[in-house]
Amino acid sequence: MSSAEIRNRFLAHFEGRGHTVVPSASLLLDDPNLLFVNAGMVPFKPYFLGQETPPFKRATSVQKCVRTLDIEEVGKTTRHGTFFQMNGNFSFGDYFKEGAVQYAWELITGDQASGGLGFDPEKVWVTVLPEDDEARDAWKRIAGLPDERIQPRGLKDNYWNMGVPGPGGPCSEIYIDRGAEYGPDGGPEADEDRFLEIWNLVFMQEELSAVRAKDDFDIAGPLPSKNIDTGMGLERVAYLLQGKQNMYEIDTVFPVIERAQELSGKKYGASGSDGHLDDVRFRVVADHVRSSLMLIGDGVTPGNEGRGYVLRRLLRRAVRNMRLLGYQDPALPELLPVSRDRMGESYPELVTGWDRIAQVAYAEEDAFRKTLQAGTQIFDLAAGEVKESGAGTIPGEKAFALHDTYGFPIDLTLEMAAEAGLSVDEPGFRQLMSEQRERAKADARAKKGQHADTGVYRGILDANGPTEWLAYETLETESK
Ligand code: ATP
Ligand code: MG
Ligand code: MG
Ligand code: MG
Repeated sequence: MSSAEIRNRFLAHFEGRGHTVVPSASLLLDDPNLLFVNAGMVPFKPYFLGQETPPFKRATSVQKCVRTLDIEEVGKTTRHGTFFQMNGNFSFGDYFKEGAVQYAWELITGDQASGGLGFDPEKVWVTVLPEDDEARDAWKRIAGLPDERIQPRGLKDNYWNMGVPGPGGPCSEIYIDRGAEYGPDGGPEADEDRFLEIWNLVFMQEELSAVRAKDDFDIAGPLPSKNIDTGMGLERVAYLLQGKQNMYEIDTVFPVIERAQELSGKKYGASGSDGHLDDVRFRVVADHVRSSLMLIGDGVTPGNEGRGYVLRRLLRRAVRNMRLLGYQDPALPELLPVSRDRMGESYPELVTGWDRIAQVAYAEEDAFRKTLQAGTQIFDLAAGEVKESGAGTIPGEKAFALHDTYGFPIDLTLEMAAEAGLSVDEPGFRQLMSEQRERAKADARAKKGQHADTGVYRGILDANGPTEWLAYETLETESK
């Protein structure tokens, strides 16, 4: 079943059950706590909190999402993309747990001939909070699930919060058993690769006043109403229904891997000793090309902080992974149009805005190629020296020189070092960076006399340090 078909079936299922179909919001919705929209509920947050009155009691959407926190998982697990689409159904003070369970069960196990997704009911597992008898009973009564396939899991997995004050509530996650060849028995608690999480039903009922961790928060009190917020991973369902091994092999993603194979002359899925590493590279390329496309489509341009830096990092990682696969020429002009052709059907703005999107992406690749050209030799020399001396760590001064003279962001140096089996003296690097800032401050004071106004920009830099990697690691909060 194609991704487009899954999407249509999801929306039709809920539209047929009284939900208003709402188009995806931009990835750049204004929310001070979020770099990007990372869940289907984000555009509806004011309704849950009672800050605005929703024009409908029930809604359904397929929301574009970006989760940069998952970047390290991409290509290594079967199920994490930096970009993905979340199918959702929402109830604003209308139906609650029973309705959510009923609608979800009807869709996943419904016959494919009559609009369902056709999953085998015997393969379905769910999780609930240990004390959530209401959810447990709903799964028993409505779905007829036996006790052993309703697994209790703690707050970390079965209580949703935004990572910051806001709405929250217990949740119940739906998993599909992919079969004994993918891991041990024992349900999602035992193995999340064999048991693939496809859908999370959140029973949004409380407002949180403080969140210290996923499972450590203060509840201020009940929300004005009891709500439902669900998120089903479109790509995850597609990978199961298309009989693939992971989300990078589905119809909307794999064509980029196919093109990358042609360009590099390497084979995806080859069994040589490097096979697995190369496969991860192919998947990273396909994922990052797609998320870059979607981000530029929504108006992000590469930059040195915040959203722009995330995009820059995604584009650069895509280009570097093509080089690691052995392809040295400009890669984006070959790959980006392939992704556009697959995504443009659902997101026509990618087609109408194509000239701008291509220009932004290709210019960034050009600039990056120049950076690499200047710095790679220096890096290789440094790495060679370190190896020869028998040490395993690139000194802070080298990382600093690469940054200062050749424009290598520290994360690029870190990644290249890791590939060479080396580490980097990061504290040493940071020390040199802060010394350089001190010198710049002193210079500015000397120039302007004792009444130096080093300016807002300096102040921000001093307060926050160099933003290029900090922004990336800290500006996003995990959802669900
Ligand atoms: P996981 O435990 O697999 O990381 P999650 O619990 O973080 O997933 P939720 O926050 O519950 O995910 O999001 C709802 C649904 O969105 C998930 O059930 C899954 O189907 C999908 N999803 C979440 N993160 C990703 C991702 N990085 N790539 C693709 N789909 C995702
Ligand atoms: Mg996750
Ligand atoms: Mg999970
Ligand atoms: Mg989840």
